[in-house]
Amino acid sequence: MELKKCPICEGTQFSDVFKTSYFRGKPEDFLIQECNNCELWFTNPRPSDEELGAYYESEDYVSHTDKKETLIDKIYHVVRSKAVKSKVNLIGKYATKGKLLDFGAGTGFFLNQAKTNGWEVFGAEPSQVARKNAKEVHGLDLNNPESLDWEELKGSLDCISMWHVLEHLSDLKGDFKKFSDSLKIGGHLFIAVPNHESFDAKHYGNKWAALDVPLHLYHFKKDNIKMLAENFGFEMVDIKNMPFDSYYVSMLSEKIKNGKGNLFSAFKTGFKSNQKAKGQQNASSLIYILKKTK
Ligand SMILES: [Zn+2]
Repeated sequence: MELKKCPICEGTQFSDVFKTSYFRGKPEDFLIQECNNCELWFTNPRPSDEELGAYYESEDYVSHTDKKETLIDKIYHVVRSKAVKSKVNLIGKYATKGKLLDFGAGTGFFLNQAKTNGWEVFGAEPSQVARKNAKEVHGLDLNNPESLDWEELKGSLDCISMWHVLEHLSDLKGDFKKFSDSLKIGGHLFIAVPNHESFDAKHYGNKWAALDVPLHLYHFKKDNIKMLAENFGFEMVDIKNMPFDSYYVSMLSEKIKNGKGNLFSAFKTGFKSNQKAKGQQNASSLIYILKKTK
């Protein structure tokens, strides 16, 4: 399916950025284009929602499983347990403790930690396997996003979090409106997404793992999120670097670039990316903290 209008500004003039390859299964090239008006990058053409399902079923889609396999997976799991605690601490610094929706909750690690810290939690997750896992591991009943009653949620939430989810949503503006409408005035939206302006993104170019086509439909930079936020009644409160992601994404990128993980090169690139991002909000992935003001 080919987009004729920019998913953020509805501009119709695009330029090609580069082609990049699917890396979680049989290689297949996808084109990334940039909107000439707002400079959003997006995967175009993109598979239909139904076709995308097959890409998510790849064995290599680690965030939905809890098998301990490769070294990279092992590192990912260790880092995740530290990362969920720091995410829960972060939301507590900005948002009033109350009703929290984690949209794209995966197997529920974050939500479980938030519950422990006193949040009234509920989650939405499209993968049935992940929902089952969340139930078995954490006793969490996650919703299928398609069955959420957005009318009923209107104005009721204190906080919504989306950890590496926004780049996957096929109806970007439609969903953003739902998030905005369901928050209370003064409520917060936390969005973590990759940042293609980071040092590691530039270093790996079209081999940068966080492009993750075709699962990632959009490839954001700070200005894109600012525009989305302003269009939907949010104020950008803060932007935080995600230093672990620079290492993790560099490890995956080394594997894509050289066919094998090169821990030393990955560490060097991840470290350099974080050094350059210091004080600049420009790491491999960023957390945007948005407050609903109207
Ligand atoms: Zn645009």
